[in-house]
Amino acid sequence: QVKAQGRGNYGFHTPELSAQAAERLELEARLRQALGNEEFLLHFQPQFDCVSGALIGCEALVRWNTPDQGLVPPTRFIPLAEETGLILPLGDWVLRTACRQGMCWLDAGLVLETIAVNLSARQLLQPDCVDCIEQALTATGWPAHRLKLELTESMLMGEGDEVEQRLQALRALGIRLSIDDFGTGYSSLAYLRRFAIDELKIDRSFVRDIPAQRDDMEIAATIIAMARNLKLRVIAEGVETEAQLEFLRERGCEAYQGYLCAPPLTPEAFAARFGPR
Ligand code: C2E
Ligand code: MG
Ligand code: MG
Ligand code: MG
Repeated sequence: QVKAQGRGNYGFHTPELSAQAAERLELEARLRQALGNEEFLLHFQPQFDCVSGALIGCEALVRWNTPDQGLVPPTRFIPLAEETGLILPLGDWVLRTACRQGMCWLDAGLVLETIAVNLSARQLLQPDCVDCIEQALTATGWPAHRLKLELTESMLMGEGDEVEQRLQALRALGIRLSIDDFGTGYSSLAYLRRFAIDELKIDRSFVRDIPAQRDDMEIAATIIAMARNLKLRVIAEGVETEAQLEFLRERGCEAYQGYLCAPPLTPEAFAARFGPR
């Protein structure tokens, strides 16, 4: 079944549009096969305490290892996986693989406070979402309180009681909830009151130009202050320089991740760097 094209669809076919559509269909077909072919893998980016520098956890980030094009970043296939519904089995695979990796490290003496996993809107909108997540925890043995789910603001805006109840159920299991890319979505803050959130994750775009852009610094500082006032945890993403870390630490940011300390790492590289020697 050929899906309707989104952008640029004016109801007629130019050669260019057809080529685009064909490319998309091929990508979709390959994406479907990829799961069965075990072409996906996870990288893990460490997260650190801003003050002590201690490792506190990591974020699991999916990659697609294609036979012909090598590692494909998630930005190139997650949107399509979401549109096609493939994000459901893929998201489940990511969650289970991350939890299994966490158990593996735990057995080896590498204890992480939390592993963060990105959850897509499509997953949260599934009626059996909470059961799926609970089953992944049970199957792998990873403790619920060591799992952090990263949601985005748009996933919470305009959602009804079902989503609210699901988030409450996840919280009741002990799972932690973080708002990814905070500050870039819809800006109604009412959902912070309504939903049971634990953490705000300052988007990279507000960190990137510290200390050159005063406005970005103000925004980052304001998010940190708000999080603290609301008794939420706060973490910054995309920290690349000492100056950025210094600024965030001074303003009271608790945790960070970014190239300054480490990019997303293979499980082997992660263990080699942070595991017990
Ligand atoms: P995100 O969740 O906001 O993840 C952070 C992205 O920033 C990652 O890109 C990471 O590699 C990158 N990053 C980390 N530190 C730095 C830094 O210091 N500088 C710069 N320039 N970039 C940094 P990645 O791995 O390409 O992932 C992109 C996005 O794809 C993620 O953004 C997330 O929204 C999505 N994604 C990744 N894995 C999954 C997944 O398993 N499920 C879902 N639903 N989405 C995923
Ligand atoms: Mg994330
Ligand atoms: Mg993020
Ligand atoms: Mg981001």
